[in-house]
Amino acid sequence: MSCGKLGEDRNVDNPVSGRECGGCTACCTVLKVDEPELKKPSDQVCPNCTQGGCKIYETRPAICRRFECGWKILRYLGEEWRPDRCGVIIDLVEGDQIPAGFRQAALKFEIVDSPNVLFWPPLIRFIRSEIERGHPVFLGTPAAVGYERRMVFLNYIMAEAVAARDNTLMIHALRQALQIGLSDAMKEKATFS
Ligand code: SF4
Ligand code: SF4
Repeated sequence: MSCGKLGEDRNVDNPVSGRECGGCTACCTVLKVDEPELKKPSDQVCPNCTQGGCKIYETRPAICRRFECGWKILRYLGEEWRPDRCGVIIDLVEGDQIPAGFRQAALKFEIVDSPNVLFWPPLIRFIRSEIERGHPVFLGTPAAVGYERRMVFLNYIMAEAVAARDNTLMIHALRQALQIGLSDAMKEKATFS
């Protein structure tokens, strides 16, 4: 099971009108593509990705056509949440990776490259708010090229910090989650269908 596969389990029905990728190509590096015509591991720049965007844009794989990150579909997120600006891609996860008892649709916050994003107050507030509402939340952590990204369930790790509404504790818990992900970073080799 890949946790960072482009477009996996994504509902892409409603991108916010006028919200364009612009100069962002974050998902073309961070996420895995496993299509018949293109197989690319996570955390590796797609060979079709250029400074001017996708060089096969008109014929890009179906999964690339369908994928919209959370910034493009969550109306309440501002421009600062564009992934190349903030350093996190929001993805939607559904299915058996979400513990029983939680809504079976979760947000996953994929770290693009620098873990410094874990100190970003809007991210901390967003995660706190989701956990307070009882919504399942994951942190997506990088892996070496050739391995699958990891996803760490945040609701239990962060429960105490969220209850205390303490930012320092929140950051500490997020860093703990990052360490869990990084320590598992070479656990699962990337496979393609
Ligand atoms: S991460 Fe989002 S904004 Fe950036 S290129 Fe992908 S879909 Fe577009
Ligand atoms: S084919 Fe194009 S849209 Fe798809 S990952 Fe590569 S650069 Fe991005």
